Amino acid sequence: MSKTSVVVPDAFFQEIPKVDIHCHLYGTIRESTLKEFACASNAPLSQSEIGDFYVRGEKPRGVLHAFRFMEEFILDSADRLYRLTYECLEDMAAETVRYTELFWNSTGTLKHHPGLSFELAQSAITKAMSDAGIAFGIESRLIHAIDRQAQAEDAVSMVELMMRHRDPLAVGMGIDYLETDHPPEGFWKSFQMAREAGFRTTAHAGEFGCHWRNIETAIKLLQVDRLDHCYTILDNEDLIQECIARDLVITVVPTNSYYMRTLAREKWADKHPIRQMARRGLRIHPNTDDPTFHNITPALVWKMMHEDFGYSLQDLRSFMVNGLDGAWIDADRRRLWKAEQLAGFDAALSRHKLIAA
Ligand SMILES: [Zn+2]
Repeated sequence: MSKTSVVVPDAFFQEIPKVDIHCHLYGTIRESTLKEFACASNAPLSQSEIGDFYVRGEKPRGVLHAFRFMEEFILDSADRLYRLTYECLEDMAAETVRYTELFWNSTGTLKHHPGLSFELAQSAITKAMSDAGIAFGIESRLIHAIDRQAQAEDAVSMVELMMRHRDPLAVGMGIDYLETDHPPEGFWKSFQMAREAGFRTTAHAGEFGCHWRNIETAIKLLQVDRLDHCYTILDNEDLIQECIARDLVITVVPTNSYYMRTLAREKWADKHPIRQMARRGLRIHPNTDDPTFHNITPALVWKMMHEDFGYSLQDLRSFMVNGLDGAWIDADRRRLWKAEQLAGFDAALSRHKLIAA
């Protein structure tokens, strides 16, 4: 896994088939769309203040303030959720993303807009997924996401709605938003309910420098099928080995705001936990998280894994397999897509006269 000196053209990262299984729907909104919605809603922020959501400074803050603004003032109708989802998938397909699982935090949105029902909102998103699949050839699924800053009972209510309004494209549940002071254990009941109802589960844990205990809790108490972030797992070798033994895939985010904010820029790439995670044996897969607010694209995420964290093209190929193993698809599709996407990866290698070493 030594850093390669081969210059890989941007076109390679663009062309390789990709899956993105850690992406928040609200973090994909185009700046032009958000400004248009805000204008039509008389939302209490100027166009320039909305533009500031998309400015990624040297020490970027997180995106929660943008999400809260969208929940309260912007995403008040099924039509807007449809358009947001459709445009997200159009943008991903343009970057050769073949499959994505999108997190949707319904709790805050529905609380602010009681006229918008869970059922209507969910079906707008999944209708957009079906339509975008036909239009752009991208497959997608929905992950219901717990707002960990809300109450544990809000999460239980969300799972009850997931069960009552079961949608074949809504396959799983996760937990996100601010992890600091919001550990996962209080949400055990919703995870148990979701699991017993047949939903797959994942959890954001160890994201903001939070203690590795949150990762242990996600694995052992919540019994998740995969994990998101998990950077502080590096502080506990036993937990690393547990994760490896359980063959858990960890989605990672190269543009994670916390490490950009807290690590000195000149040391960022060397000190970043992602650099160590695969080298310590963990099965990682790189993702966009909040692509428009992070000023990132799926292709650039893969480029960062190579150029910033020194992973070889062979490593990237193994990350592609990890993503497909972590994806919530059936075994036949997994086998087929692995063959197709690895062939696509190898074809891109040969087009650009590169060797995966
Ligand atoms: Zn995330």
